[in-house]
Amino acid sequence: MSPSAPRASWRNWSGTARCTPRRVLRPVGEDAIVDAVTTAARLGLGIRAAGTGHSFNQLSVTDGLLVDLTRHTGVESVDRTAPSVTVRSGTRLGELAAVLRRAGLALPDLGTLAEQTVGGAVATGNHGTGLSFGPLSSLVTALRLVTADGTVHRLDAAKDPELFHCARTSVGALGLVSSLTLRCVPAFNLEVRQSAAPLEAVLRDFSGWAASAEHVSLSWLPWRRDVGIRTAERTAAPPTPRARLRRYSTTAQELCCGVTGLAGRGSATAVPALSRALSLPVPGPATYVDVSDRVFTFPQPVRFIALEHALPLERTPDALRELGGALRRAGQYSPYSVLVRVGAADEDSPLSPAYGRATGYVNLTVPRSAGQVELLRVVEHVMRAHGGRPHWGKAHTATAEVLAPRYPRWADFQRVRARVDPEGRFAGDYAVRLLGPVGARERAGAA
Ligand SMILES: Cc1cc2nc3c(=O)[nH]c(=O)nc-3n(C[C@H](O)[C@H](O)[C@H](O)COP(=O)(O)OP(=O)(O)OC[C@H]3O[C@@H](n4cnc5c(N)ncnc54)[C@H](O)[C@@H]3O)c2cc1C
Repeated sequence: MSPSAPRASWRNWSGTARCTPRRVLRPVGEDAIVDAVTTAARLGLGIRAAGTGHSFNQLSVTDGLLVDLTRHTGVESVDRTAPSVTVRSGTRLGELAAVLRRAGLALPDLGTLAEQTVGGAVATGNHGTGLSFGPLSSLVTALRLVTADGTVHRLDAAKDPELFHCARTSVGALGLVSSLTLRCVPAFNLEVRQSAAPLEAVLRDFSGWAASAEHVSLSWLPWRRDVGIRTAERTAAPPTPRARLRRYSTTAQELCCGVTGLAGRGSATAVPALSRALSLPVPGPATYVDVSDRVFTFPQPVRFIALEHALPLERTPDALRELGGALRRAGQYSPYSVLVRVGAADEDSPLSPAYGRATGYVNLTVPRSAGQVELLRVVEHVMRAHGGRPHWGKAHTATAEVLAPRYPRWADFQRVRARVDPEGRFAGDYAVRLLGPVGARERAGAA
């Protein structure tokens, strides 16, 4: 690159992270990904990967080489007998779901957003909800990883299992994932039911509630005593007429939250009253059936900031009680509901936020105004005190010192990291803040 060439800048979806890297490459195909890595080595640049930038923190920020994988897209193969799909890492989840639907297949569970890349979602422990469902990364049965020296590792649970399981939740610290094979299931429809219940009744039997349907979630405006409950169960019934309206009604609710956030910019204490005044009636049927990916995801055009922690399932009710008290004492509220989801333990991936424990996920979303962002600190404090592990892709302030004791196999990840990236090519400033410098433990052990 000539020294006078203008540098391209990059920012994330929520506008909370930006950078002007020395170079931005948008490889298409695995050979181009290998070239990107060897170019960085030749120029002595650090590398960070980016998907669609839907993480709320500095994960992809670099002043070296930013490898934007959003053009490295497409389904490479579908195996209907396994069943499984092999997909390039820059493919968006919604695009993957559409291809699978045409092939009569589906992913068993998804989070709320179809726009993000498979590689970015897997790398950060993205999850949906349901006690029988682990994070998206737990569906990965094989992946191809390009490490700092340009080697392409073809990984699965039999070939180099340690690197494979670490690479399933890697926050981009081990190399560039070129493609992934994910376990699928035959396509299915879900019946959605929405209801309300007193919060305390749900918290008293939280594990019973969590097991009450295949997919459960709870939405709670913390100034209220009741919560909205959404369950989804498999059904052989066809989609209900106008079911799609429900999907867009969730988008419309988020638009209202955005407007309430703007109206309450000066005073977050006014949010409950504004929220009552500005909320929309929910159109369409209360109980409905639709194809699975349209039930799991909905368009999310309004920009916001979210913080989410993965808690031990059994500690989640007490954490929510304490959170209600802390928010009332703070006297400030977000127009967005606190969203509670659940998930199965991830038994093998050392940096999975669900590692080793059935999990309750507690998410707070806030508008981007400064007063609201302060609320995140209140929530983070409570979540940490209850054993919470922050979502790798969401807002948080945790450093390696805070994170290491929360992950029993932290040292295993660090050993693998030192093996495949000994010079710290993928260790940007933020990755070092999160994970510490590469090889710190190994050097301490040798000294
Ligand atoms: C509106 C919205 C809704 C969301 N809903 C959910 C939800 O329901 N559940 C949930 O769990 N999370 C959710 N998230 C968080 C989101 O899933 C993560 O932030 C995810 O990482 C975003 O994917 P991305 O493609 O934008 O990745 P990016 O944010 O671009 O990158 C994330 C990380 O992955 C690394 N990375 C990306 N691609 C590769 C690759 N090919 N190889 C190696 N490393 C790579 C990057 O270096 C970075 O460290 C949501 C976020 C938003 C903004």
